[in-house]
Amino acid sequence: MRSVLVTGGNRGIGAAICICLKELGYNVIGSYNANHEQAAAFSKKYDIPFYSFDLANPEITEQKIQEILKNHGPIDCLVHNAGITNDGFFHKMTLERWQNVLQTNLLSCFQVTHPLIQGMRERSFGRLVYITSVNALKGQIGQTNYCAAKAGLIGFVKALALENANKNITVNAIAPGYTETDMVSAMNESVLSQIVETIPAKRLAKPEEIADSVAFLLSDKASYITGTTLHINGGMY
Ligand code: NDP
Repeated sequence: MRSVLVTGGNRGIGAAICICLKELGYNVIGSYNANHEQAAAFSKKYDIPFYSFDLANPEITEQKIQEILKNHGPIDCLVHNAGITNDGFFHKMTLERWQNVLQTNLLSCFQVTHPLIQGMRERSFGRLVYITSVNALKGQIGQTNYCAAKAGLIGFVKALALENANKNITVNAIAPGYTETDMVSAMNESVLSQIVETIPAKRLAKPEEIADSVAFLLSDKASYITGTTLHINGGMY
């Protein structure tokens, strides 16, 4: 049974990924930040162990990944899905907001991936998927921090894929378009309906539609796909 760590696995896209992979027989381990009650209920319902840590804190993140390895043994697959927005025009943005989004969405890749990759190389197997965003490709007003972080993930994926391709380790990104989750329901309703009008499919993605593609990239059927970004955006970009 393959093991998979899904960050941000308690709700939204991450929850759909956890449910999908659990149904496929993976040994799923999830992480979240601070939504303790909700995560405990989700963990119980789906029988998935969850760990709470803030990706904005590099030291704690590294410690928790080590704890996960100690408690669950080798991790075969990683889905680094957790992410935040903290929008605002760049000319009004504080350094704190800039750094928080960069650390949580991009720089945390180091603390989450580094402890796992050596074991994957030794075992000659690994599947790594990073959730980026359509906005990394197209840009978005008010999201310089988010777009920089998510575009950075794509470069990270390409380089890590090259370094590990000869070890049967694949590294890919998935770039969802606007998806039905809390992140999107937090948006202004009229802005959101204007965005939906620009999507050729005329609807948001469902979290399950992203999860199915994650499952494919983790599967043996995708063993020759590495260094790529899969776009799931209803034709938006
Ligand atoms: P949600 O806001 O619904 O969920 C975010 C998840 O990330 C939660 O599990 C949350 O934990 C966790 N998280 C947030 N901040 C931290 C932190 N500092 N440390 C650890 N975990 C954290 O997000 P979505 O499901 O909408 O998005 C999932 C991913 O997909 C993100 O990377 C997002 O950028 C990307 N994406 C989303 C799109 C969308 O339209 N929804 C479109 C394109 C990309 P907790 O519950 O404890 O807060």
